[in-house]
Amino acid sequence: MSPGDYTQRQVPLAPKPYDFVPFPQSVTRRPLPHGIETLCADDGFYSGNLTLVLETLTPLFVASGRYELSEDLTFSKGAIARGCYRIGGQPTIPAASLKGCVRSVAEAVSPSHVSLTKVDIPRHLKDTGQCRAGDRSCPACALFGTGGTKAHISLVRFEDALPAGEAKTSLRSLIPLHAPQASGQRLPPAYVDKYGVQKGRKFYFHNMPADGSEGDRCEVVQEKTLFMARMSFINLEGPLLGVLFFALSLDGTFRLKLGGGKPLGFGSIALTAIELRLLSSACFMGSAERGAMEGADLAEFVIDMLEGAKAEELLLEPQVEKLREILRWPTSRVAVTEPY
Ligand SMILES: [Zn+2]
Repeated sequence: MSPGDYTQRQVPLAPKPYDFVPFPQSVTRRPLPHGIETLCADDGFYSGNLTLVLETLTPLFVASGRYELSEDLTFSKGAIARGCYRIGGQPTIPAASLKGCVRSVAEAVSPSHVSLTKVDIPRHLKDTGQCRAGDRSCPACALFGTGGTKAHISLVRFEDALPAGEAKTSLRSLIPLHAPQASGQRLPPAYVDKYGVQKGRKFYFHNMPADGSEGDRCEVVQEKTLFMARMSFINLEGPLLGVLFFALSLDGTFRLKLGGGKPLGFGSIALTAIELRLLSSACFMGSAERGAMEGADLAEFVIDMLEGAKAEELLLEPQVEKLREILRWPTSRVAVTEPY
């Protein structure tokens, strides 16, 4: 039996290291009133820059895409390892990885559209189709942009996150788990309900890494490493900013997971907002910003935006609760070390 041949597997498998956030009942599309040529800094619209500290809670593996000699990665000689992504020699978290991680949460907890795949999604969502530029947009597409022939750009921009101090790396094993993959028209049975319809959006639980010696060696950033993460946003209505703040885990009720080796316990991260600078139209008239917000002021502003998102039903309670349950931190779960 090949590793992916899950349909004929008779032996009991380890518990699944993931669960699903159910799809929303409907998709909410709101007008995108302004392009980026106009700065809407008043009347409930926000543009600005947010600085965050990112702390690794478990080892983090963001691959460079290259195999390297262990001695070139400053480890003892004689091994080949998958190196971590670097800029200027420093381990770095690419903007695209951060954006993808935050978008996946924003999609899951808001009435956002579900991209059509080869497999079945619930009919009420299939019928709503895709978002297009120049039209109304679902929360995730409004924040992060949409592709296709009528693409519109993201109103949120992340920068690469660089270490705040020293970022030590070590070599860990990427234990081969042979997670079942979708093949052709079919999803693994664990992914679908009794009608063959996809259950929802998949998220891995946080779990404590298990040590192993099998599999590829990979270079991970050690836990308790700090990175500075910066992002900017333009022309977001308050409730949409609330969805973004929630997806950044700024309400503190869950932690995000980022990078490779998620079922192995890698990639648990904590984000903390430390400074927000809101732009106003006065920025372009000489005086600079509405001012920097930090500490209690910033925390209060975040809560206001979250409340706005809930009030406008852009944060969906059942989906929020399920996501919190899956991404709860701290955790006593131990990573899987065998096929699941
Ligand atoms: Zn959309």
